[in-house]
Amino acid sequence: MVFTHDTEVGLQAAAALANTLALSPGSVDELATVAALDELFVTYDYTGRHDRDRAELDEVRALRVRLRDLLTAERDEAVRLTNEMLAEHRATPQLVRHTSYDWHIHATEPDAPLATRIAVETAMAMVDVIRADELSRLSICADEGCEGVVVDLSRNRSKRYCSPTCTNRNAVAAYRERQAASTK
Ligand SMILES: [Zn+2]
Ligand SMILES: [Zn+2]
Repeated sequence: MVFTHDTEVGLQAAAALANTLALSPGSVDELATVAALDELFVTYDYTGRHDRDRAELDEVRALRVRLRDLLTAERDEAVRLTNEMLAEHRATPQLVRHTSYDWHIHATEPDAPLATRIAVETAMAMVDVIRADELSRLSICADEGCEGVVVDLSRNRSKRYCSPTCTNRNAVAAYRERQAASTK
């Protein structure tokens, strides 16, 4: 484990959210429905308030560009954005323990809006990343046409692609290149 569990989940959830934005030509917004948000909520083990309505969805959708900016910022800019998010929501770090998670940090109340909790959770995760000077763990997908955020939590820092789709596409392309080279 590179960071604590809550930090790692926070980074992965923020990247997954940011990566639902339609950033490259031809891609579609993948956070278009309440059901799509519901799926992310379950996948990333969110707890607390979840309204399951259009207003909540719109708030989370609107947050995505800020999450992306934060995850892809240079260190000093990341500090500024992190501090801004924490101050804006008056984050109050508290150790909490619930369901399957041992002691970890929440810095908002469980009944704060989901978008607020995601913003603060991401900022708290970035506090760890910045303090450990590990921003190189965050990058943009190495796939040519993809702008996805990559969170590399691997021991040997080997993660280059944002998704299995991008990994596979490039593995296939590399294989074809090798085949072509060997038949020349
Ligand atoms: Zn928790
Ligand atoms: Zn990608």
